[in-house]
Amino acid sequence: MKFISYGAAQQVTGSMHLLELENGFKVLVDCGLDYETKKKSLTDNNRFFDFDIHSIDVVILSHAHIDHSGNLPNLIKQGYEGQILCTAPTYDFCSHLLMDSVNVQISELNKNNSKGKRRKPKATNASDLLYTQKDVMETMRRMVTFDFHKEVELAEGINFTFVPAGHILGAASILFSVVENGKETRFGFTGDLGRRDANLVVNPEPMERIDYLVCESTYGGKLHLDTESPEEILMKHIQTTCIDKRGRLIIPAFSVGRTQAIIYSLHKLYKEGRFNNINVYVDSPLAIESTGIYSKYHAYLNDDAREFLRTNGSLFDFPLLFEVENMRESEALINNYDPCIIVSAAGMVEGGRIVEHVYNNLQNPQSAILIAGYCAEGTLGWQLKQPDPYVTIRGKQIPKYCEISSTDIFSSHPGHQMLMDYVHQYKPESLKKVFLVHGEQKSLDAFQGALSKDGYNVEITEKEKIYKV
Ligand SMILES: [Zn+2]
Repeated sequence: MKFISYGAAQQVTGSMHLLELENGFKVLVDCGLDYETKKKSLTDNNRFFDFDIHSIDVVILSHAHIDHSGNLPNLIKQGYEGQILCTAPTYDFCSHLLMDSVNVQISELNKNNSKGKRRKPKATNASDLLYTQKDVMETMRRMVTFDFHKEVELAEGINFTFVPAGHILGAASILFSVVENGKETRFGFTGDLGRRDANLVVNPEPMERIDYLVCESTYGGKLHLDTESPEEILMKHIQTTCIDKRGRLIIPAFSVGRTQAIIYSLHKLYKEGRFNNINVYVDSPLAIESTGIYSKYHAYLNDDAREFLRTNGSLFDFPLLFEVENMRESEALINNYDPCIIVSAAGMVEGGRIVEHVYNNLQNPQSAILIAGYCAEGTLGWQLKQPDPYVTIRGKQIPKYCEISSTDIFSSHPGHQMLMDYVHQYKPESLKKVFLVHGEQKSLDAFQGALSKDGYNVEITEKEKIYKV
């Protein structure tokens, strides 16, 4: 059997890996968008595949995040004719995320078309997009869902099983059992792992008796430093900003996973009577749709969340929570100066409605911005975290008068120690090799160093290199 990475090799985004059996059967694991390869645009980064699309027999999707799923409609558009296998929550998230991805592409193209020109931007051509809504609809038609822990035969000699990975609802590790020449090889992909005891989602489970592991490395070498619970951390910020200063607490958060974890914590605090008379606004259409999916698939939640749901009838709804439905409501919120909490996307403040909220609160010393997760270098979220007294938004230098802080507590990835603990569940003498993917070079090096010290045979996966296993 051969293993080849076509994405998320020595970088974080664009997850795309291939397993090829001796008899030629090919499985593609994930098909995500690459945001890092430095070409002209997102479309140029992702338009072409470095393998023969028609030779792929089946695609298996670990979870819905766009850096794992976002290029599937392009794969279909270019002629892939097979199925896409995933869990049921992943299917539901994808139907919203992939449509949103089309809208993001359209608005980026419009922005680029009108750059530096006074005249009306030219209309967006379907051929300028990576894919259209029609391709997304066809992608959704090809998706077939499977539960966790059920071994499924893909073809003679190859079975797979979805194993809970935590991370976001329905996220799976993928375990392959391949029998070639009368000998079984067990090959496991972690997908993106979650952290232990996270809000809402289950803990990541190890895959049984594996020979090879392809492991995500996002936080390799980086420790999560928060020691308090998510609720205590949030409450401190609510107390200082909303209660003591009567100001507004702005929380940039990803629509799928992060927003739901934050709203769940706020609901718990409200139930405990820790805050009152402070409205909470969720200003992200995608987050609102994703929140419904968490409630729909309650069987996939962790015990704590299921118990909370049984007792309270809802995970997220409480009288102080308001969903901001449209741009008019979002603009009205900007002009309302009552103390409140605003949770809005995107998490790295690289677009979406959050940019308006940041822009309108940066110069207000009563307001605060709480960055609730990883922000890639160069993004506005990253700029906000720097000690520099100014940030540049829309070409203007804006002074930072509001308080800006950050927390990793809502990160949906494990920190370095939790990653090490995860791999330690497999004995170094029984694991033939650990392939590291999905990490910046620094993280990959640190993770490789730490695992090698513990006796594991570790390789930082190179893009398009063929590994015979
Ligand atoms: Zn993910």
